[in-house]
Amino acid sequence: MKTSKKINLNEKEMPGKWYNIQADMPNKIQPLLHPGTKQPIQPGDLEALFPLELIKQEMSPERFIEIPDQVADLYRIYRPTPVHRAYNLEKALDTPAKIYFKNESVSPPGSHKPNTAIPQAYYNYKQGIKKMTTETGAGQWGSALSFATNFFGIECKVFMVKVSFNQKPYRKSMMQLWNGSVIPSPSMETQAGRAFLAEDPNCPGSLGIAISEAIEVAATHDDTMYSLGSVLNHVMLHQTIIGLEAEKQMEMAGDFPDLIIGPFGGGSNFGGLSFPFLRHNFTGGKKTRCIAVEAASCPKLTKGKFEYDFGDTAGMTPLIPMYTLGHKFIPPEIHAGGLRYHGAGAIISQLLKDGLIEARSVDQQESFGAAVAFARTEGLIPAPETAHAIAQVIREAKIAREEGIAKTILFNFSGHGLLDMSAYDQYFSLGNGSTAAHQEALLGQLINA
Ligand SMILES: *Cc1c(COP(=O)(O)O)cnc(C)c1O
Repeated sequence: MKTSKKINLNEKEMPGKWYNIQADMPNKIQPLLHPGTKQPIQPGDLEALFPLELIKQEMSPERFIEIPDQVADLYRIYRPTPVHRAYNLEKALDTPAKIYFKNESVSPPGSHKPNTAIPQAYYNYKQGIKKMTTETGAGQWGSALSFATNFFGIECKVFMVKVSFNQKPYRKSMMQLWNGSVIPSPSMETQAGRAFLAEDPNCPGSLGIAISEAIEVAATHDDTMYSLGSVLNHVMLHQTIIGLEAEKQMEMAGDFPDLIIGPFGGGSNFGGLSFPFLRHNFTGGKKTRCIAVEAASCPKLTKGKFEYDFGDTAGMTPLIPMYTLGHKFIPPEIHAGGLRYHGAGAIISQLLKDGLIEARSVDQQESFGAAVAFARTEGLIPAPETAHAIAQVIREAKIAREEGIAKTILFNFSGHGLLDMSAYDQYFSLGNGSTAAHQEALLGQLINA
């Protein structure tokens, strides 16, 4: 058995700038519209919610943007992150494809999300902000922002979707550990929350509702700003540290990806890995295919419409030009909480509309099957979100086998599943994956699917 090959960068090789794809994408994104006037928003319209530097980044045409020293210092707690070659998975799948993954699960909160939480907390701190609000579904984003704000002495208030608040007690503890305060949403703290509770006292909540609550608190308090963990352009920008590192690591491995795959919630980890490679499609004659993998139960990219829609349920955010299932859509309660968002970021949506990236969907059963196969071959336990990308990797490895083509696949291992074991428990309790024979069948099934 060959052990996994791990490709590390040293700290000095960590990129000093983020990459802004807005400089190179062939068709620019349409402007955000003001929720009241429906006119293109002006930078000033966002000043109640975000610090100036982030608003500047949101609209910036600059190709590269400097990473501040204090941000880089905090990145070094867990960056650069390794790229691994998944030899054992390749062998189990009997595929000629080479499978690499970028391991973003090594951050303290366990996902890629601190890549943007750290700079967002930093720019708020630089502007003298003392409090930030946000929302979280499964708890990954809330824990990343608590982790980051804690370094800058900023108070962090997290509206957590009520079902997850009850289902994921350890994510809540993690936020508290890093000084975050966690409120189940919908709550009585906001007008939006009270309205949803009046309609349905047992409302389980949704990401869209929690966003409405967090925005309301920021908009009505001068000392408080709002923060979003995906979808927006500045979030994608910060996440490109993933792809910029991976570019160097693939070069060290002597390979270049034919295919890039990432799980898709609002687009930040997928964009973060793929944008620096797409740049070479736009300007360097490369032809890397980039595939975003969403949950079949929340299929905005594969079944949604491209139109202007709100980012939240109450209709308080600017209107975003995006693929969406409608801002009132409340997705089923799947384990991959990070994929339960009704829309996609504006940049991703434009790229998809222009046929420059692709999208696929994966259902929960197939994703857990892939996660178990991955844990048993490569050892790492994937987050339920990450499992969606792995399922697509397995599909592509099968196609490579049928075609006899040794293509190179790079996917984003966006997070670990160590706080999602109850989801694995449920998967096993249904009789899945419990014996070696079942696992054989599972891999076979995936291979022949
Ligand atoms: C939040 C999350 C996602 C999805 O969010 P994106 O903004 O689309 O990246 C994927 N994987 C993990 C582990 C997450 O925490």
